[in-house]
Parts: sequence; C-alpha cells; structure tokens
Amino acid sequence: MVTKMTNPDMVPAMKKVAAIVTDEGGMTCHAAIVSRELGTPAIVGTKNGSLTLKPGQVVTVDGEKGFVYEGAVVSQQQPQVQAPAVAAQAQIITATSVKVNVSIPEAAARAAATGADGVGLLRIEHLILGLNKTPGWFIDNHKEEEFVKELYAGIKIVLDAFYGKPVWVRTLDAPTDEFRNMAGGENEPVEHNPMLGWRGIRRDLQSKDQFRLQVEAFKRLWEQGYSNLGVMFPMVSHPDQFTQAKSMMREWGVDVDHVTLGIMIEIPGSAILIEEFIEAGINFASFGTNDLVQYTLAIDRNNENVAWMYDPKHPAVLRLIHDAIEVCREYGVECSICGQAGSEPPMVQWLVEHGISSVSANIDAIAKIRETVARTERKIILENARSRNA
Ligand code: PEP
Ligand code: MG
Repeated sequence: MVTKMTNPDMVPAMKKVAAIVTDEGGMTCHAAIVSRELGTPAIVGTKNGSLTLKPGQVVTVDGEKGFVYEGAVVSQQQPQVQAPAVAAQAQIITATSVKVNVSIPEAAARAAATGADGVGLLRIEHLILGLNKTPGWFIDNHKEEEFVKELYAGIKIVLDAFYGKPVWVRTLDAPTDEFRNMAGGENEPVEHNPMLGWRGIRRDLQSKDQFRLQVEAFKRLWEQGYSNLGVMFPMVSHPDQFTQAKSMMREWGVDVDHVTLGIMIEIPGSAILIEEFIEAGINFASFGTNDLVQYTLAIDRNNENVAWMYDPKHPAVLRLIHDAIEVCREYGVECSICGQAGSEPPMVQWLVEHGISSVSANIDAIAKIRETVARTERKIILENARSRNA
C-alpha cells in the first residue's frame, strides 16, 4: 500500500497488504501505530513515495532500515526466530511492570503473546474512527446503542486476551480534523490548531452524550466482572476535570470508588499539579510523552521541519517526569509511561533508575524493553550491594 497517509477506515486494507509506504507522518502517526501492531513492514514520512512508486511496480520494503528496493529482493539475512525468543523472554521477571500498548483489537492476541503484564494504553479512537462515523453521528441518528455495542465488543476482545491483567482503556482522544472525513464530520468545528483544540477530556466533559456512551460501555464491562478494566483520561490539565469526570460517571451509575481511574500526563500543567491530582483521587498516572514533549517544547509532533528538535530526553521534559515520579512514589500511586519514549531502551533505563513503577511499550519493542528493565533493575541492586560492602 502506497499512500499519502493512512486513515482508520483503511485498516481492513492494511491488514491484507505486504508492506506500507506513506508520504507523511512520523513515529506516532496512524500508519506507524497500526502497522507495528499488525506486524507489517512500513516506512512513513517518505515525502514523495506515492509519486515515485507507480501502480503495478514490484518493490521490496525493508521496514527495519527504511529502504525501498526496486524489484523483488531476497533477504540475505537468516529468518529471525521471533516467537520462541519472545516466549523464553516472557520468563524474565521484572519488579517494574512491562505492559503493552494496543490500538486495534485485532492485535490483542499478538500483544498478549508477548507475555506483557497488561495493557498500559488501549487507544479507543482507532476503534471508533474505524466505524467511519463520528460519535455525534450515532447520537444525532439515534443509534447510540449501536455505538455502545461496538465499543463494548472491541474493548472486550482486549480484556479477554489479558484476562486477570490490568487493561487501561483511554477515553476518546481524537482531534477534530481526524473526524472530518467521516459521516457526521461536516458538523465538526474547523480549528486553527486541532492539537491544542477540542479533544480528550476537555471535549468529553462538554459533549456529555459522547462521554456517557463510552462510560456505558465501560459500565457494562465492569458489570460483566471485568475488574481488570481501568479507565484513563487523556489531555487533562486540571484536577477539577478528573473530579468532574468522576462525578459524571457516578451520576451514570458507576461505583467510582471501586473501579480504577487514572490520568495521562501529556500537558506540563498536569505534571506540575500531580500532587493535587493524587489528592483528587487518581489511582494511576501515565506519561504520554508524545504530547508531553510537544507541549513542553512547543514542537508540533507532526511537523517535519522541527522534528530534529523533538527530544523526549530534553532536560525540561526529564525534570517534569522526574518530579512527578517522586510525588507518585511518595503517595504510592502507580506511575507509568505509554508514549513512544517507553519503547526506547535508553529512556526506559532512565525511567527505571528514576523510580517509574511500570512501562508500556509497543508490541514490537516488548522484548528489548523487558530486557532493558531487567538489566537496569539488576544494576541498581548490584550497585546498592557494592556500596553497602564498601
Ligand atoms: C502520548 O501523547 O504520548 C500518547 C500516548 O497519546 P497519543 O500518541 O495517542 O497522543
Ligand atoms: Mg497524547
């Protein structure tokens, strides 16, 4: 598949193709997230792939190195023995939980086969956008039950695959421009900067019906006994938003004091106010570094011109993370990461050294992240033993 960019309604086709090449996008674009979960080789952000490659042309895509070769190239490499390696790896026990990110229910079985300790981020917008109708369309056309059932069924697939392990489902976080081409998209507001716009919890708290339908799906799952379901609110910037969301859920019949509710830390304001969030009753917090980097450093995560400045290890980002981890540890609140940086070994080493309690990585990164976590934990133990003996 060669295209400018993939959309959620292209997922059925993405499942059938041998490789994906896009003109636009970076590490966290739709094509990158979905192809990683499908295990399909992909190269994103080629700028001119769709102009250079012609229909019917035979090419070979090396998604590891980011090369497209003319013709059918036979790999010189030995095939990797991926499955047994991952299975053996799952025996490694780490004190820091190593979880996996999931975006499409079709990837649930592959994700569970990694032996991950749970799902640290289930993005439901891929599920909803894949319906090709906005939540508003379902509400305006009196098809609310259909929406709830779709959501319920998609989440249930992941909960079943991770039976007995925590699965943190994130409420809807789709910028208005991603809704535009869907049925009902004509009613979406046109925003100058959708990244800073009407999305995440700020939209749900105002679009009560949209929020209520998501909560209804969660409620039915909790009632079915899926106590491993936790709900995570995206784009929170003030503890009042958490309190408000919780009281709306209570109003809609959720026993909020006995379910797991947490937040994403994607906005510097929420990292700074972490203590107030804990006082407001969050059960966990997870760093969404894809956005935390963008909002801390004022770098559009999809803008290739400033991509070279996009750095999760920028000292300002690290300080925000360090300080928030310290507070979580003080209060005994689980603190995790689910942004792309959680799939990068040097960052994960730093996070474990600074006391993070869990890490959620992409499916293809679980093996190396588990190894990084185990190695870092052992190093900490060894250094402590040495300094005691010194
Ligand atoms: C993040 O911001 O790091 C994150 C995981 O959310 P998304 O990539 O969906 O914005
Ligand atoms: Mg985000």
